[in-house]
Amino acid sequence: MSINASGWRPEMAGKGNADGAAPTFTGNKALMLEEALIFEIGDTTTTGVDIAPAQEGKSRLGDLARDTTIGLPGLSEPETVRHYTRLSRQNYAIDLGLFPLGSCTMKHNPRLNEKMARLPGFADVHPLQPVDTVQGALEVINELAVWLIKLTGMHGVAMSPKAGAHGELCGILCIKAALEKRGEGHRKVVLVPESAHGTNPATAAFAGFKVEDIPATAEGRVDTAALKARLGPDVAAVMITNPNTCGLFERDLKEISDAVHAAGGYVYCDGANFNAIVGRVRPGDLGVDAMHINLHKTFSTPHGGGGPGSGPVVLSEALAPFGPLPFTARYEDGHIALIEEETAGDDHPDTFGRMTAFHGQMGMFTRALTYILSHGADGLRQVAEDAVLNANYVLRSLEGVLDAPFAGAGPCMHEALFSDANLADGFSTLDVAKGLIDEGYHPMTVYFPLVVHGAMLVEPTETESKAALDQFIGALRSVAERAKAGDPALKTAPHFAPRSRLDETQAARRPVLAWKDPAPMAAAAE
Ligand SMILES: *Cc1c(COP(=O)(O)O)cnc(C)c1O
Repeated sequence: MSINASGWRPEMAGKGNADGAAPTFTGNKALMLEEALIFEIGDTTTTGVDIAPAQEGKSRLGDLARDTTIGLPGLSEPETVRHYTRLSRQNYAIDLGLFPLGSCTMKHNPRLNEKMARLPGFADVHPLQPVDTVQGALEVINELAVWLIKLTGMHGVAMSPKAGAHGELCGILCIKAALEKRGEGHRKVVLVPESAHGTNPATAAFAGFKVEDIPATAEGRVDTAALKARLGPDVAAVMITNPNTCGLFERDLKEISDAVHAAGGYVYCDGANFNAIVGRVRPGDLGVDAMHINLHKTFSTPHGGGGPGSGPVVLSEALAPFGPLPFTARYEDGHIALIEEETAGDDHPDTFGRMTAFHGQMGMFTRALTYILSHGADGLRQVAEDAVLNANYVLRSLEGVLDAPFAGAGPCMHEALFSDANLADGFSTLDVAKGLIDEGYHPMTVYFPLVVHGAMLVEPTETESKAALDQFIGALRSVAERAKAGDPALKTAPHFAPRSRLDETQAARRPVLAWKDPAPMAAAAE
């Protein structure tokens, strides 16, 4: 193994200069630096800390004590700092530029949120601290809960789920518990529209339900007639996303909810797209029984490698008694209690139990509440309006260049959907996405939702200025025009990234997930 303090291996020389320029000695391209794996540049004898050997002592591990070395690579402190800093520079991030990933709501994470989340009273609390010593933290959880209930027009909220998909599971488990309590545990079917995020059917299946697809109309909405026709005594719930993943508002949701309730089922709403309607629509008014909210989307807490998620679930009056432990409750004297036991007080006998060890993501709660309080009710409404305005600006600016299958039906909500319909023969959505990388953008969401061929889903969010949108629109228009004209260079893009077009099929089918030391392999071959 060759060790080099600069993260460089001789094999890297001349790598990656696809664009005619003479290869550099290092393989680096100016500030775009090559970086080897830590296993390739580190070794087992180097370390960033200098600790005296431990005194011989009697191990309490008995037979379980390790008798071989761990074999983890080490680097000195400056080498370690450089290794991870160089890797971090190979990432695209919302702090670098517009991140058009549809359905993900990659909006700016306000720095005020970070400042609040780092206050020691929030950042340094321990989940096992006596409740009397964390009243401030509980107050934050409780106040955020009140806001989420108000904004959604619901009855209660489970704060502990740690992501959107986890929240879906929480909501579906509430539905399951409610059905069992009614003696209707035989209801085994969950109806999911074709355009749903993959987590919806996965959640229902994981909770033991049978998933059935509901078709979409030509306008990209749920086929209400087909859905109503399928309702019956075997249907437990319907899972609907609103606004949906085609970027459209499901106008029939109230009618659908009424029909589902009349047939004895529950309505789960995937609220990941709440950013488009926050402050303007209350899902509770539309008959929703359970809905997760991605704090890391709508309420600006970082995600996508930037931090943990958080997926509180708001619940209707019918489902609230079945919500998970623990939860906060305010006593008359103003004190806040953390209800952790199923038996305590016996006023919540129907809870389905506990989903997480502790209460949830304190840092995300603090960031989300900071965001809400700094915007206020009117500011949150403005968020939704500006998010929708920005998406429509993208849609109308590009509909003449890219096929926009639902643009004729009127404005979109918070994201603009395009298809590959008018690209040149042999050119696909993938080529457009790879071309955008050369333009310095993370690509939009591609091939989702499945109801549109070669889908490209662009969500600009409200935090982009008109100038930033114009630049992005210009870049996407330029790449789309190359794909329509059949520019062969686009088929091998990206050209300016550290690595050019990869074999994605091989990467998916035969991923190399673990590093193997080539030295013993070479020795074995001899
Ligand atoms: C992001 C998203 C989810 C899942 O949320 P996670 O926090 O990633 O688990 C579910 N549905 C839709 C529509 C989403 O956009």
